[in-house]
Formats: sequence, structure tokens, C-alpha cells
Amino acid sequence: MDLLDTQEQMKFEDFALEECILQDIKASGYHAPTPIQAQTIPLVLEGKDVIGLAQTGTGKTAAFALPIIQKLHGRMELGALVIVPTRELAQQTAKVFQMLGKSSGVRVVVLVGGLPMDADRKAITSWPNVIIATPGRLIDHLESNTLNLREVEILAVDEADRMHDMGFMPQLRRIFACLPEQRQTVMFTATLPKDVQPIVHKHMIKPVTVQVGLQLPAERAEQQIIYLPVERKTDVLLDLLKHNRGRTLIFCRTKRGVDKLATQIGRSVRGITRLHADREQCARDEAMAGFRAGKYRILMATDIAARGIDVADIEHVINFDFPHAADDYIHRIGRTARVAATGKATSFVTPPERKYLRNVQRLLEIPITNLTDEDLSAPPPVGSEEHGSRRGHRRGPPRGGRRGRTVQAKA
Ligand code: AMP
Repeated sequence: MDLLDTQEQMKFEDFALEECILQDIKASGYHAPTPIQAQTIPLVLEGKDVIGLAQTGTGKTAAFALPIIQKLHGRMELGALVIVPTRELAQQTAKVFQMLGKSSGVRVVVLVGGLPMDADRKAITSWPNVIIATPGRLIDHLESNTLNLREVEILAVDEADRMHDMGFMPQLRRIFACLPEQRQTVMFTATLPKDVQPIVHKHMIKPVTVQVGLQLPAERAEQQIIYLPVERKTDVLLDLLKHNRGRTLIFCRTKRGVDKLATQIGRSVRGITRLHADREQCARDEAMAGFRAGKYRILMATDIAARGIDVADIEHVINFDFPHAADDYIHRIGRTARVAATGKATSFVTPPERKYLRNVQRLLEIPITNLTDEDLSAPPPVGSEEHGSRRGHRRGPPRGGRRGRTVQAKA
């Protein structure tokens, strides 16, 4: 379903939400519910357990935040727990709660690794209504008896598939064991991995499954695959960065890969920052804030960071390394073309990565743009983005696709 269809069919005023919440929705610039919001908000408000199968970028955070804010509006005690896979997503989710719960006075606390436990303890005693946490830090608090979850009435598990991929299933099971049995549970995930299904059966009561298709956000992003040999990746990346001056997110598979590439391209391109799990929390925060504020034009990240990045106007997502799982592809591409915007996504595929591309092609049709013979025989760039020129190399991004001749790249 397209966003516009839903806009014609549903309004936020159709939901049983307090006037002050409707005001905050308006102030946040949301005009109409997205498909996942239209379908899940009424169910969650009714008190049903819900599984929302939705990609990132579809508006799923507000789909659970709005009913939680409505339920906890005017209450003093802790009523909701939101579990998310990454620190960045936790911060992002807290912002949505703060924005949509501003007038209702909902108090949110974020518990994530990388910050001192003492600060958490203080926050926990400040009477939050909603706790947003990553599994590891939540377990730390449960083990040190600094938090009890006995009053939680509504649990939201966001990006359950991601938590599964990150090996958080044992932690999730332990957290479930600390929650009261009488509660409402909502789970959002792009897919329902096999290992997550027992959790659903054991801990959710007659859940209603709501699915919005894979079409958002990936279809709005203009996607391009470039076949190329591994040794040309850095040159082609520099070329792309030279011709696309907008805010760009580059994905590498490993933390070391991010660091290495940042050093390499940092010699000729300015305004680069990095986001991955080995960086200190303050450095990660600075990277995100700087990228958001425009201090950095280019953010280089691993998949772990992909889920938490909600920055407006990311013009270009570049998969420097092609993701191994189709889900990761969709999540990465979801960083551009958020909700109503459009964006561009370029993925490099080297010969050994073609098998991963097939995983994605089972779900999505992506136009393949091969580098032409001319592109591949062009000499690597010399000089820099700001100062240099490229000897003997044509101007403009790699040719191919609709305009160019399609050939197989030489490996
Ligand atoms: P999410 O999938 O929750 O990460 O949301 C993706 C983006 O959509 C965020 O930037 C939200 O602020 C935005 N968003 C959420 N709901 C709406 C809506 N109803 N209308 C417009 N934008 C929205």
C-alpha cells in the first residue's frame, strides 16, 4: 500500500488518542498515518498483542510509541519497556517518544551500554514511564537488582530479527522471564526468523500479525548495482563521491573495513566520519550528531549502525561491501528514501559477492549497471576531490544501466 492511499483513508484523528497527543503529532509534521501505523495503532490501543512485519523507514517507531504514550498519559509509574538492538536505535526511539509525548509529559529513560551504570541508576530512580534499552545493559541492571520490571504493562520489542542476528536471543529469553505474565506485547520485525518464533508462541497471547510489504522504502530509492573487480572499488567510490555531493552513507562489512577505507579515502575527501561498535560511545554520538548537523558529509558504518540511523536527507547510500543477508540490504537502503522522500542507493558487487546479490534479487528487482570496458580500463584517480583532477578519466559517474552498454566486468 502506498503512503498516499493511506493518507486518503485514515487520519490520526480516527484513533482514540488524547487531544494533546494529536497536537504533538501535528507539531512533528506527520500529516497522516503510514500503512503500518494505520494498521497497528488501533490494535495496540485495544490491548492486543501485535506482530508488525515492517521494514525500517516505514514509521514503525510511532506505531508503537503513540499507543504507549496514550496508555501511559498522566501516569506516574513505569508502564512500558522498549527493547531495541542498538544504542543508536535506542536514542532514536527515545527522540520519537519525546517528540510525540511532549505534551503528555511521558518520561523516558534510555539504558544502553557504553555509558556509566551510575548515570543509569540515577535515571531509573527519576520515575520514568518508559524505559528504552538494549538487551545487554538491561540484563546488567536486572542482575545487579537496580531495576525491576514487575510493573511493566506493555513491552515493545523492535527489530527482533536484528536482535536474533546479533545473538541476543538468550538475553531476550532472560528478560521475558523477569516480566509480569499479565502484560501486552508488541513486536516489530522485518522478518520472523525461526529462532524468534518460539518466543512469540511462549510469550505472546494470540498475537495479531500485521504486514506491510517490502515495497517501502526500498522501492522509492533509485537503486543501482555496479559489478566491478575488487581492486577498482576504492577508485569508483572516489568517483561517486566526487559527483554526488549530497549527504552520503557508506556501508562496509567489518569495523576494520570501515577504518581502513576511511583512512584511504580520507586522503582525498573531506568531511568523513565513522560509526561502528568499537568506537567509544561519545565518538559514536559525535559522529551521528556531526553527520546530522552537516559537519560531516559522509558517514561510514557497519550494519550494526544501519538500524539506528534516522537522518533526514541522506541522498546516497553506498554499499561498498555487499551485505550477505537480504534483510541487511533492505535496512541499509532504508536509510535513504525515508517515508516520503526519495534517494539513491549504489551497491558494489565483486565476483565473490554475486551469490549475496542473488539473495536480494529473490526479493527485489534491482537494475544492474555494469562498469563498461572503458570504465574498467580507465586509470585510477589521481589528486583529490577538492584539488585534483583525474588523468584520462571521463567525468561523471560510472556509465551503464539504461544509458550505458552492459558488459561483464573483468575480475
Ligand atoms: P521509523 O520507521 O520509525 O524509523 O520512521 C522512519 C521515518 O519516518 C522517521 O523519520 C519518522 O520521523 C518518519 N515518520 C514516521 N511516521 C510518519 C508519518 N506518519 N508521516 C511522516 N513521517 C513519518
